[in-house]
Amino acid sequence: MLRVAIVGRPNVGKSALFNRIFRKRRSLVHDLPGMTRDVVEEEVTLSTGESFVLIDTGGFDPSDRGAIPDAVRSRALAEIERCDLALLVIDASAGVLPGDRKAARGIREAGKDCLVLANKIDRREGEEGEPEAYELGFPEVFGVSAEHNLGISELLDAIASRARKHAQEIPAPKAGEAEEGPSAREIAVAIVGRPNVGKSSLLNAIVGFERTIVSETAGTTRDSVDIVVSRAGRRFRFIDTAGIRRRGKTEQGPEVLSVVAARKRLERCDVALVVFDAVGGPTSQDSTIASYAVESGKALLLIGNKWDLAAETKKDVKNFRLDVYEKFPFAKFAPLVLLSAKTGRGVAQLPAEIFRVAENRERRLPTAQINRLVTNEFRGRMPKGESGRPLKVLYASQTKTSPPTFSLVASRADGLYFSESRRLENVLRRAADFAGTPIVFHVVARKRRPADGKRRRPGSSVRE
Ligand code: GDP
Repeated sequence: MLRVAIVGRPNVGKSALFNRIFRKRRSLVHDLPGMTRDVVEEEVTLSTGESFVLIDTGGFDPSDRGAIPDAVRSRALAEIERCDLALLVIDASAGVLPGDRKAARGIREAGKDCLVLANKIDRREGEEGEPEAYELGFPEVFGVSAEHNLGISELLDAIASRARKHAQEIPAPKAGEAEEGPSAREIAVAIVGRPNVGKSSLLNAIVGFERTIVSETAGTTRDSVDIVVSRAGRRFRFIDTAGIRRRGKTEQGPEVLSVVAARKRLERCDVALVVFDAVGGPTSQDSTIASYAVESGKALLLIGNKWDLAAETKKDVKNFRLDVYEKFPFAKFAPLVLLSAKTGRGVAQLPAEIFRVAENRERRLPTAQINRLVTNEFRGRMPKGESGRPLKVLYASQTKTSPPTFSLVASRADGLYFSESRRLENVLRRAADFAGTPIVFHVVARKRRPADGKRRRPGSSVRE
């Protein structure tokens, strides 16, 4: 998708333009403590159908060292490098200033296509300043007023024609690209749990901790708001953050609502943080929510929050951990993190944990290794099928990731007895790091040769 970056000195009207084009007001950014307001990006779809990504690069002023933090400046420069089209905004009522020329030079050096927007032409001085903008050396200058909606539709036409061209040049992402691994793209994180367990506090603690780059972007579903945090080149997208902060008062009662909200949030995530109150310990509601995460194949971290209070009464941490897993018997693979959103203790390690389980969910083992493991395990101890009869497994392979899914080709159509899947799961978990991710098994019957319907000889390998 065409990436369009809004660039310019502070106070020329970049945010106003962003909002004018995006036609929505963003507000959430301001109520988070410790948040750096810098890069914001949104996907915009025009009424004519073209889509592009609009990026507000925040305060970019190469000449103004002190006023803008280095992280913001370098991120703005990086956004210019990454964009396809720069919208260089100047304040036409102030004329062309040295900062504008520097920004123009930066865009030219990066070799980017650029439209110059002479903003504030609603003012008389602005109207006069507009022709001056050609001095920046780019052939296309648009006199606009973000505040009074002047010249915007002409601007959108120019962006739309580029978006069309761009869409033809660059093929849409292929299905396989989704499997590139979490390091290559965003990790979507859902914070779920009952009311008052500290979801909102935890979100603040994480976001407050990652002071590097924070932006708020539109979620992929309507009306949802996500927060994207960048750290060490990785991006974490916290899903539906507005929903976490919004206190629901409905007839259904907050408990029911938390499950509904959790299910919705879980749909879009790679990693679920199931937060529970460590003082009282997990409840059946917590376990219901966690079971949804497992069923939907998401990576999972169990978060025991309020550990600042709980630690007093739970001196025997090892026992406490055992108790917790007893409440989540289906999620023994999920790491348990004890932390305090209030004091911040234990929060710093969370991004690394999230990244680890997200990676594990995308892990792929070589077929030869899987077959070796499976053959070794079942040699002499054939697994039981669901029917109760022994099942001969001929061949195994990993057919999918996210979550890792293994197919076993067996001598007949039968499921794997529950305890046998557990046994195989343990074998795989010992062989590779699958912490935090569910593992799924399918058993398929080997295909018989349609011609004679005879069984193959035992031991002959069967391939799909
Ligand atoms: P949410 O409904 O799950 O989003 O919960 P909140 O984040 O609003 O927290 C509920 C209450 O628990 C608030 O009064 C918080 O201040 C408090 N709280 C949250 N996390 C902690 C913690 O780690 N320790 C303590 N002592 N209190 C916490």
